[in-house]
Amino acid sequence: MRDDATRLIVDSMPGLAWSASADGTLILVNSRLLVYTGKNTQDLEPDGSGPSFWWTHVLHGDDVASWIAAWSRAVEAALPWEIEHRIRQSDDTYRWYRASIQPVRDGDGRVHRWYGVSIDIDDGKRAESTLAAAEDCLRRREQVLDALPAIVWSATPEGEPNYQNQRAMRYTGVSLAEFKLEWQDRFIHPDDAGMVARAWIRARKSELPFDVVSRHRGVDGSFRWFHTLAEPLRDEAGRILQWFGVDVDVDDRTTTEEALRTTQAKLSRASEIAMVAELAASIAHEISQPLAAVVANAHASHRWMSADPPNLDRAKLTAERIIRDGTAAAEVVSRIRALFKRSDSKRALLDINEVIGEVIRLVADEASSRSVGIVTDLEVGLPPMLADRVQVQQVIANLARNGLDAMNVVDGPAKVLSIRSRRDGPDTLLIDISDEGTGFENVERVFEPFFTTKENGMGMGLAIARWIVEAHQGRLWATRNTLRGATFSFSLPIASRGGS
Ligand code: ADP
Repeated sequence: MRDDATRLIVDSMPGLAWSASADGTLILVNSRLLVYTGKNTQDLEPDGSGPSFWWTHVLHGDDVASWIAAWSRAVEAALPWEIEHRIRQSDDTYRWYRASIQPVRDGDGRVHRWYGVSIDIDDGKRAESTLAAAEDCLRRREQVLDALPAIVWSATPEGEPNYQNQRAMRYTGVSLAEFKLEWQDRFIHPDDAGMVARAWIRARKSELPFDVVSRHRGVDGSFRWFHTLAEPLRDEAGRILQWFGVDVDVDDRTTTEEALRTTQAKLSRASEIAMVAELAASIAHEISQPLAAVVANAHASHRWMSADPPNLDRAKLTAERIIRDGTAAAEVVSRIRALFKRSDSKRALLDINEVIGEVIRLVADEASSRSVGIVTDLEVGLPPMLADRVQVQQVIANLARNGLDAMNVVDGPAKVLSIRSRRDGPDTLLIDISDEGTGFENVERVFEPFFTTKENGMGMGLAIARWIVEAHQGRLWATRNTLRGATFSFSLPIASRGGS
């Protein structure tokens, strides 16, 4: 091949090419190398300080030593070699290159020339270091996540767990793969599982934070209380990409609170007993009246029958009165028993809005048959309360039915029963049930046992509702609405973070 053709090839190859004599003295560089480095051939000529000197003009200072070392080894071994290095370009910036250097031997096998070509690998190198930096960053984050004094997890938008930190696995003793198959059935306490499942579905549907307190099973089979908080991460369009959550162990705090609560419960038990005594006195009074009448009529009947001749008509009349009064007394007893149907209070963590929903389903037909609309204003994401579901349902149902009764006016304009739930301060939930009915004069009178203005009423509903609410450390009161109707409000304490 002719010399200028060779030159053309060497100059147009996509790399920095050069040749040197056996001891490293520069013989030839391609024009690309000169253009890249902004040097001319003289700049790269040896100045007598050593064969590798010329490279030091263009190499990165940190790469010179390794270049010289490799070069010396290569000269000694007379074998091809490769090295990665940075070259300073004419604009004083550096790029990464990979140099491949080949020896060419003469007839006796001695190295006669070195040919080198350096290919630009800067983009790859940068990508590599970005990747390494990202991996490093991830590793560090992972370390932080594992060091946090909490269980950290994430889940898909569909609610399937897809990440857990080491602490989670240490607590449950199972891998993520195993955990995600049966986390609700196996790792949440059976008494909390339903509540947790419902709250999790609700959070995902409403796309609002998930906030529950529940018991989680540990590797030794025992349960500890955890406070779980999770929030969705969204993309720019607002779609949920992931849920990120933490479970913080609140068991120790819960145990202390439990002890405190037991003391409080003992104290409030004393006032409960007083309330029950008051109720019992009212009930006894209500029953003793018809009983006294029964006894009096029984005596009278006995007299009419013992007369000579017996007055059967009178005896029959008094016997009928006995039946009437006896039935009335039995009625009082059976209705009171119905009101106290479930005296064994079973408390669990409850979502008040859920209970309100259940009551609404219960009274919906009654409301629509009276042309009353039920409007709700329920604050989302309310924390749970610790209460007896049936008793709280009973309170709300009683207040709702009283509201419906108070609006039971034939041919009036359409009426509305409003039910509202909200948080009232850090520890309390507040529920208002408001109607557009007749209202009342005396706001305290309505709570008295056996006070009723209804034909078939017994006047025990509000007394018992107040008793239930107070037994839950809450308050129940009534207010007259400005325009018309009444509002019954009750407060219930939020389950403390510990939850029991
Ligand atoms: P009952 O419903 O059997 O009468 P309650 O204790 O529930 O027993 O109610 C007592 C009385 O309080 C009622 O008879 C009624 O006069 C009054 N009352 C209760 N709720 C309302 C209301 N929302 N509006 C007007 N009056 C009410």
